[in-house]
Amino acid sequence: MDWLQKFMYGRHGPDQLSLGLIVLSLILSVINSFLRGPASVIVMLLCTAGMVLSLWRMFSRNHEKRWAENQKFVAATQPVLRFFRQLHSRWKDRKTYRYYHCPKCRATLRVPRGRGKISIKCPVCKNEFIKKA
Ligand SMILES: [Zn+2]
Repeated sequence: MDWLQKFMYGRHGPDQLSLGLIVLSLILSVINSFLRGPASVIVMLLCTAGMVLSLWRMFSRNHEKRWAENQKFVAATQPVLRFFRQLHSRWKDRKTYRYYHCPKCRATLRVPRGRGKISIKCPVCKNEFIKKA
């Protein structure tokens, strides 16, 4: 493994964008297994391009450019990832908490379940409303 360490020395290595490209390529290759004809060739080329681009980024020695590209990717995917993280945490504590939106400012509020009718005060706009929790 000494040769691999020597080969990877000074190279950018994997980051979120490279891993995202690999995941996208794998999804495309699954989709491609259902396709026939010219569409299949196009998707196969996109899949290969994604893999090659990902490898090229990992082996690149231009850290500044790769870092800047990765920062843009992370900033662009942040809202999507936040949405799925929120969905996951809501699912995890669905038995102990209920989620409501403030009727005034639409902020998401989490309240403990099984307390009957409760008055909820929004910490953002201080609006109070009554809900069954
Ligand atoms: Zn509010």
